[in-house]
Amino acid sequence: MTADDLLARHRAVLPSWMPLYYAEPIELVAGSGRRVTDAQGRSYLDFFGGVLTNMIGYDIPEIREAVERQLRTGLVHTSTLYLIRQQVELAEKIVQVAGIPDARVFFTNSGTEANEAALLAATSYRRSHQILAVRNSYHGRSYATMGITGNRGWTASAHNPLQVAWLHSGERLRGLLARLPADDRIDAAVEDLREVLATQTSGDVACLIAEPVQGVGGFVAPPDGLFAGWRKVLDEHGILLISDEVQTGWGRTGAHFWGYQAHGVTPDLLTFAKGIGNGFALAGVVGRAEIMESVPAISFSTFGGNPLCTAAGNAVLDYLRDHDLQANAARVGAILVDGLRAAVADLDGVAEIRGRGLMLAVEFVQPGGTEPDPALTGRVVEACRAGGLLVGKGGLHGNVVRMGPPLTLTEAEAREGLAILVEAIRSTVAAEA
Ligand code: PLP
Repeated sequence: MTADDLLARHRAVLPSWMPLYYAEPIELVAGSGRRVTDAQGRSYLDFFGGVLTNMIGYDIPEIREAVERQLRTGLVHTSTLYLIRQQVELAEKIVQVAGIPDARVFFTNSGTEANEAALLAATSYRRSHQILAVRNSYHGRSYATMGITGNRGWTASAHNPLQVAWLHSGERLRGLLARLPADDRIDAAVEDLREVLATQTSGDVACLIAEPVQGVGGFVAPPDGLFAGWRKVLDEHGILLISDEVQTGWGRTGAHFWGYQAHGVTPDLLTFAKGIGNGFALAGVVGRAEIMESVPAISFSTFGGNPLCTAAGNAVLDYLRDHDLQANAARVGAILVDGLRAAVADLDGVAEIRGRGLMLAVEFVQPGGTEPDPALTGRVVEACRAGGLLVGKGGLHGNVVRMGPPLTLTEAEAREGLAILVEAIRSTVAAEA
């Protein structure tokens, strides 16, 4: 069967609103380390890791063996109605690293469900359905999480089931706050929060949910300390803070284990997903016990925290800490960001190179102008693929190339990927001129 046949079959039975990357979509059939292979036998260096999901790399013996051990028991699945040793062990480890005092964990299968669970806990605790969310955010594809997603491309089909008021955050380039000097942005965002609370809500708000670095939004980081600025106002009203760490958790940003730590404040609830399963469906919410315990009805999950996925999660977390991958993310990420800045920052069409640790982005605008250029971005992504490198796209306007490779990326692989990326950007921008 050719790739065209598979694509035709895909189109026949899967909805068209599920985007596929590349003019000729890729079927990946194998992975090893930081490389994946497609059905035609082509090898790619993977700088996107699924979507920041493969955090340790492909076919890592420690993780494979932990999962195989569980498989050999024959117990591939039990629900949370039973005691699950691996789930308890993983929850203990997460409570230990989360930084939230007296915390409880609830495991889910996806980041979307994790945010749903966090919203349920926050709204139950506060007995309010008013939510503060952030422009340019992404929190999932369910009805409620689309309701708190501030990105039209991902929400246009949904009516909002929640009462949501929208905040400015760290938007770059085109955002209102970006026009201010960096030192004034936190004060302006806090002022915006006060005004939104006073004018767009009854004041009786359940929570504010925010990503420490906006992922789908194009790896946009608000100014460090913004959450602390917000927190002062939230505390005056008893409003909870939820940090959506689905992309920013586990040391990916290099300087910190959690994205929220860059803000000098601890959230009440934190959601995690993606990397902790290294490809297995594992996610959840961790939060203060009194909030987590406030959910008024019995709730359980058939698949959430099942033995196979939590076996993987335990192995991932152990590997991550044993190998100090946070430090690696900082070191190797610096090679990439410095290399990109040196090689392409001055090119017409490259608006900004930004990122933290191994969460890096290049934003593209129309050459000679400032308008977002998703077409140019798409051509860069295709050129990377032709060179053997997989990267992601993102941003409110689809004009950002995103890189979130496994945190085990070596310096040699970083330099190899950097060379492909630089060549892809240079040749694409030159062809525009
Ligand atoms: N929150 C953030 C910040 C995300 O980036 C995503 C997915 O990209 C989600 C939530 C939703 O996670 P999932 O796709 O696992 O449902």
